[in-house]
Amino acid sequence: TNFNQTYQTTHIFKSKLPDIPIINTIPLHTYSFQKLPQVFHRPCLITGDGKTYTYGDIHRASRSFAVGLFNLGIRKGDVIMILLPNSPEFVFSFWAASMLGAVSTTANPSYTSVEITKQLKASKAKIVITRSMHVHKLKQEEENTFIVITVDNPPENCMSYSVVSSMEGKLPEVDIDPDDMVALPFSSGTTGLPKGVVLTHRSLITNVAQQVEGENPNLHLKEEDVVLCVLPLFHIYALHSVMLCSTRVGCRVLLMEKFEMRVMLELVENGQYSVGIILTEKHRVSVLMAVPALVAALSKNPAVEEYDLRSMRMVMSGGAPLAEDIEEAFHSRLPQAILRQALGMTESGPVISMSLSFAKNPMTTKLRSCDTVIRNVELKIIDLLTGSSLPYNTSGYLNDERATAEAIDEEGWLHTGDIGYVDDDDEIFIVDRLKELIKFKGFQVAPAELEGILMSHPSIEDAAVVPQKDDVAGEVPVAFVVRSSNDPITEDAIKDFIAKQVVFYKKLHRVIFIDVIPKSSIGKILRKELKAILSN
Ligand code: AMP
Repeated sequence: TNFNQTYQTTHIFKSKLPDIPIINTIPLHTYSFQKLPQVFHRPCLITGDGKTYTYGDIHRASRSFAVGLFNLGIRKGDVIMILLPNSPEFVFSFWAASMLGAVSTTANPSYTSVEITKQLKASKAKIVITRSMHVHKLKQEEENTFIVITVDNPPENCMSYSVVSSMEGKLPEVDIDPDDMVALPFSSGTTGLPKGVVLTHRSLITNVAQQVEGENPNLHLKEEDVVLCVLPLFHIYALHSVMLCSTRVGCRVLLMEKFEMRVMLELVENGQYSVGIILTEKHRVSVLMAVPALVAALSKNPAVEEYDLRSMRMVMSGGAPLAEDIEEAFHSRLPQAILRQALGMTESGPVISMSLSFAKNPMTTKLRSCDTVIRNVELKIIDLLTGSSLPYNTSGYLNDERATAEAIDEEGWLHTGDIGYVDDDDEIFIVDRLKELIKFKGFQVAPAELEGILMSHPSIEDAAVVPQKDDVAGEVPVAFVVRSSNDPITEDAIKDFIAKQVVFYKKLHRVIFIDVIPKSSIGKILRKELKAILSN
């Protein structure tokens, strides 16, 4: 109720650059490959083993896989789960789904069986594309069956990616509406459990256009850029700002399957030798999309001194707040590179503000600044909450009207749950987070998910999970636990119990026993009080 009163008096912040026309009549893949004839022979993806895929290769491989998926019964509106690390098949699968009017739900391949099963059930995925090593985590249930395709040698009852890709047939004509869903990443948003975030063709195209279209784009990606993709594509940040934006621009993406400092530094320094059309071309990295932990490593790890990183002209940090000292250390170590922050959120599809968005000297934004909102975005700061809205980016949660109504209000404003302000130069500063979400190196940890698991333990009567500040990860999850009467369960036993059921970054770093979890009169956990106990 307070929101509506506040809206009438608050300012709407907009980009200083004029809005751009929004393209909303074509599907995402058509938009992304619109310049295909011009970029057909250009390298698009370069993988760790030195393989180069041109734009033509990517398009062809995606179409072939789409034909295969169609043969397997995938139709418009159906969901496929991509359970893969960064790899060409990830990219082909995403485009194939889009071409069929189908939807990709992406998940971390390191997830446990429990975590994957929840997402499979909620998304009703009909096909899972993965590696054979993850197949044991996929549980078929009567009301929830799916086909499994593996990109390597398929175990029993699974299909081979290459067999599916070589199936005969024609890609069907599919009538895709701009408001049809194309991606379904999972996020806990401002409260509760992870939910499927509905992202449409229109919303993803809009956000690409906001970043890279026009005379004076927000994200100054150039056709000759080599963008390093070390962040996982299963998170919307890399999927969108690396893959979708690069594809539209026509630049190159160097895919790294997992982060290893020296491998990354070597890649930046040397790029790789193309074995494709353009022989012996070096793909030295010019742009890096990063999270604060990665920027910290670049700024502080002594190994960096041994490499020539002068090709790197721009580093973008997003997903979590970047500390001032890291920013300063970065500038003294890589003086030629512009370091900027972007503010994003899965639900906003995803970028809200992005550095370089202002046509002034790009070196001069302030420390900690997330710069100004990107074009076509309206942002309001309301009381203690930051409310923001991408007017063209309609999104909601799959099959969860209540959560959607909580996140997007009647006027269409999306509530990000961040605490911050806008200064006189229109630069955005995020100072804290009002929502429950914990961010471990940019990865989402939903307290409600861990609380649910804790409460399923017979020795635990009540529990609450909150973030604790951490120098390396930014934040780590910590649990306050009320034991069932006289139960001697130990901190280690509780940590183990959680660790067995969750991916590594959701593991508890501490368990604090407490007599009672502080709650409001309506039973909401008073997280502020628990955080205060931690900081004392
Ligand atoms: P996700 O949906 O995983 O992208 O998480 C979105 C949330 O991450 C935002 O609402 C913020 O709380 C946080 N976040 C993202 N980028 C930044 C940033 N540059 N500075 C501070 N927090 C950020």
